Amino acid sequence: MRELRVKVLRSPDELMAYRAGLSGAVGFVPTMGALHKGHLALVKHAKRNQGKVIASIFVNPTQFNDPLDLQSYPRCESADRELLEATKVDALFMPTAAQMYADGSRYQVAETSQSVDLCGADRPGHFTGVLTVVLKLLNLVRPTHLYLGEKDYQQYQLIKGLVNAFFLNIEVIAVPTVREQDGLAMSSRNRRLSAIDRKTAPKFFQILSSNLSDEVVIKQLIQQGFTVDYVKTIDGRRFGAVQLGTSGRGVRLIDNVRIEP
Ligand code: AMP
Repeated sequence: MRELRVKVLRSPDELMAYRAGLSGAVGFVPTMGALHKGHLALVKHAKRNQGKVIASIFVNPTQFNDPLDLQSYPRCESADRELLEATKVDALFMPTAAQMYADGSRYQVAETSQSVDLCGADRPGHFTGVLTVVLKLLNLVRPTHLYLGEKDYQQYQLIKGLVNAFFLNIEVIAVPTVREQDGLAMSSRNRRLSAIDRKTAPKFFQILSSNLSDEVVIKQLIQQGFTVDYVKTIDGRRFGAVQLGTSGRGVRLIDNVRIEP
């Protein structure tokens, strides 16, 4: 098999040894794998900075409150490595949960306000899991630039807040959401949609982007067959989360759009 040029680092020790040899700009793209063009857009933005680019793939168990969701989260290591090779990422960090949580999760980062709204309201502990793993990753990678997708806008805001609150010297860059031609935001979870649900899914973005009130948007989404977790406009941005498919195998989609006043 052709040898891949992306350097794969499988432990915090390997990563720290690699990082010690770098100087100048270091861009970081954290992911949970099952990579698509949305993730690759983050890498492309990072490459523009002319420094090194480190990506990570870690399906973080502490941010899943549904064990079935964690179990069914897509994993495709060799395809992911090929894609990262093509985008010329310099290094790929792929730690294990035991390595990342050697403290048995005794230490956690909690945000007390924004993290209990929207995606945090019906997923208790979700953002504590996200912020905790991100702080660990940032301390290991020590990036100068961090690239996050607008697709997960609440997550972006919370991580930017974490960077500010803990005086981390990192520039946080938000990259616009990459969509399929029909408007559906690219997501690792889309591959779990049935053929019928895939046809319905773009209506989520279409209806979310309309200039109707949040209440009417919710009604229309329900009419189209979505289970609505929330639709809420905050500071000119409408956030939404819905589910498609039968219970137990439902696929959760999230999205957000700027709404003109
Ligand atoms: P994930 O692998 O889902 O944890 O996502 C890793 C990063 O990729 C996060 O910063 C996401 O916001 C970003 N991302 C995921 N999907 C997209 C997309 N369709 N467009 C832009 N960024 C995305």
